Amino acid sequence: GSTIGMLGGGQLGRMFTIAARNLGYKVIVLEPDPLSPAGQLADQHLCAAYDDEQALQQFGEQCAVVTTEFENIPAKTLEFLTQFCPVRPAAAAVQVTQDRLVEKEFIRSCGLSPAAFAPIRQLADIPKACTQINFPAILKTARLGYDGKGQILVNSPAELELAFQQLNAVDCVLEQRIELEKEVSVILARSVTGAMQCFPVAENLHRNGILHQTLAPARISAELAEQAKQAAQSLATKLEFVGVMAVEFFVTCQGELLVNELAPRTHNSGHYTLDACISSQFEQQVRMVCALPFADTRLHTPVVMTNLLGDLWGSSQPVWDELLASPNSKLHLYGKHAARAGRKMGHFCTLAPDLQSALAEANRIFARLQQV
Ligand code: ATP
Ligand code: MG
Ligand code: MG
Repeated sequence: GSTIGMLGGGQLGRMFTIAARNLGYKVIVLEPDPLSPAGQLADQHLCAAYDDEQALQQFGEQCAVVTTEFENIPAKTLEFLTQFCPVRPAAAAVQVTQDRLVEKEFIRSCGLSPAAFAPIRQLADIPKACTQINFPAILKTARLGYDGKGQILVNSPAELELAFQQLNAVDCVLEQRIELEKEVSVILARSVTGAMQCFPVAENLHRNGILHQTLAPARISAELAEQAKQAAQSLATKLEFVGVMAVEFFVTCQGELLVNELAPRTHNSGHYTLDACISSQFEQQVRMVCALPFADTRLHTPVVMTNLLGDLWGSSQPVWDELLASPNSKLHLYGKHAARAGRKMGHFCTLAPDLQSALAEANRIFARLQQV
């Protein structure tokens, strides 16, 4: 069969759909939102909840394989679909990434280090956690956080108690706040036979807990880049992951590499591959889930990817003149219906023979977008 099922209808699903169609596949998107970025573009959009078994059966029966763009697809959904076709990645791999506590234990089990952490499931866990973790620290909900949502910086046991209540006393993890030298990420593809390919290590600049820019290649030593790729590969292998996944790292001021978190899917920090690599992370995902050979992951030009958040949208779209007049910049919009502050509406990639020039050009364009 030549139909791929995509669980989730966000921008990652949309860019996957474009890549899949370029390779001759049809895509069916299952996503509850009728106006989703991927649903609008797919050959078919099944507008249903992820636990609607009737819809899932209809979906699974039409697909040769099912994949996902969203880490919070219930494991039960992924398991249910295996009755009808292969599901890549598998439920067990995705599930590990849905809970920060489970994920951090898993990272340790691979011989790698997360930032120091302690579980906080109830108020009574606080005194012990305070003996293990130094302040300042970050309290994060174990489940469902993204773009820095569900995280509170705390400076004392009293603040921690208040923050836990503010987060509605759901399961949390208290994490040491790390003095960051840099943040980097690895996007990796793993095949059905367990072979792996990494894209070049990317460097990530965040603003307010949200990714602002990704630079490739990362400005780190070849040794550190290799260490990050090796770490990502051991995580993917232990997960028996099939598809494309991402690993976010902290580089501490002491030069240590810590694993921040995993994403069982393509990643915002991999969008640079669309314009600066021989093949994109989305093409690679199509290839992995369809058991095709790897595409070439080589970076052909240094690149800066800049996110376009809803903050730039006033009563109308931003004025793209400056961006479109830059011959080495490429605009990607996701077709979202409503702009909200902090919402990822699109991105642009700026290519240049050297990273410094790409960064200067991207920053010049971004400053203009903020002005008008
Ligand atoms: P994503 O959208 O990447 O899934 P998230 O909501 O899961 O984000 P994290 O990746 O945990 O959030 O944190 C977002 C950002 O906040 C990090 O990339 C980093 O810049 C900062 N941050 C998070 N935890 C720490 C920490 N322990 N020490 C220092 N900075 C941190
Ligand atoms: Mg996350
Ligand atoms: Mg993150």
